[in-house]
Amino acid sequence: MLMTQQSLSQEAIDLENKYGAHNYHPLPVVLNRGEGVYVWDVDGKKYYDFLSAYSAVNQGHCHPTIVGAMTKQAKTLTLTSRAFHNDILGKFEKYVADYFKFDKVLPMNTGAEAVETALKICRRWAYEVKGIEENKAEIVVCNNNFHGRTTTIISFSNDPVARSNFGPYTNGFIKVEYDNLNALKEVLSSNKNVAGFLVEPIQGEAGVFVPSENYLREAKALCKKHNVLFIADEVQTGIARTGRLLATCGNCSCPNKDCSGTPDVKPDILILGKAISGGAYPVSAVLANDAIMKVITPGSHGSTFGGNPIAAAVAMAALDVVIDERLAENAFKLGAIFRAELNKYIAKSTICKGVRGKGLLNAILINDDEESDTAWNICMKLRDNGLLAKPTHGNIIRFAPPLVMTKEQLLDCVSIITTTLKEFEV
Ligand SMILES: *Cc1c(COP(=O)(O)O)cnc(C)c1O
Repeated sequence: MLMTQQSLSQEAIDLENKYGAHNYHPLPVVLNRGEGVYVWDVDGKKYYDFLSAYSAVNQGHCHPTIVGAMTKQAKTLTLTSRAFHNDILGKFEKYVADYFKFDKVLPMNTGAEAVETALKICRRWAYEVKGIEENKAEIVVCNNNFHGRTTTIISFSNDPVARSNFGPYTNGFIKVEYDNLNALKEVLSSNKNVAGFLVEPIQGEAGVFVPSENYLREAKALCKKHNVLFIADEVQTGIARTGRLLATCGNCSCPNKDCSGTPDVKPDILILGKAISGGAYPVSAVLANDAIMKVITPGSHGSTFGGNPIAAAVAMAALDVVIDERLAENAFKLGAIFRAELNKYIAKSTICKGVRGKGLLNAILINDDEESDTAWNICMKLRDNGLLAKPTHGNIIRFAPPLVMTKEQLLDCVSIITTTLKEFEV
């Protein structure tokens, strides 16, 4: 029996290796079922999912409300394209605009497409509203950013693995150090052609870098002063992940009372993806007010699947779940417990140097260099012990479980993590 099962998982891995392009290096585990905070492999072994598909599955796997909305819509109408109207797109657009308190939304499918859309909106705004000379607009981005995989987006990445041999690259981007207000101030005051500042509120892929307390607010103020659009990529940090509805949480309908005090960090352009569908379907969105979104005119941008009926139904259900189940509050509370518990362990650990993060977007730092395979080996052991996570940048392990987790489950996970780390102490 065990032989058959093992060969099932090896067979799945072999098929991917033989017929799929090798653009990923997955942890060797083959999953075939998910529910809530759990996933199961083909042997029937159960795991805590501590990645949540890079924070797409915030509402938990196969949430019945989301799956219900999806199957109902799938049996009714799946795609009309935007050549015709349908009876759900407008409802979805109103729902999302009200939810995040913006005038308008432009729906797309993937995060990278939404970032591209935001860049195009920003450039048009530069020429048609701000009055920058044609083809001279610059957009400021941060070192070690991650915004997706298109040719333009990798053009302003500084990750050689993502970039090398994909040139020629797209012009019009200036990189500054993340979490450095002076660097931002300097580039904004010395260059009249800057149209936008694109930033992740927490740098997720780079290793969960949380900027200083006042960074986003001050950056927004600098942008305002120089008539530059503050563009927040909340594809990973958004939708309750960091303990607030948005990591730039401002004037939005967040259920967490704690976050009503920072409307000055509200982005001019907000980019969402991943968990806006609860991981059930590719849905992304760009939000802005009329003064900015008006630059988009018929024919200037589009997508066959963008805002399709299934996406609309799924996203509304997924956002309902965030409110109904108070996921922002839960992420806020559990995140604090998670870091406190891990810090107790880290105080006497040599293998783990620290934990950082916000809400349930966290990472631990492994005491070894980036080239070592210690973090990978720890993730393999975590897998054996029933918890799935993956290293980012060699010596950092990101922990981002679904936000529907209970306190008991979280403490169980803390015990799996600390027990596993103990095996690596020297
Ligand atoms: C994942 C991610 C993207 C890209 O989203 P895709 O759906 O993979 O294209 C963009 N920005 C951030 C911050 C992300 O985490």
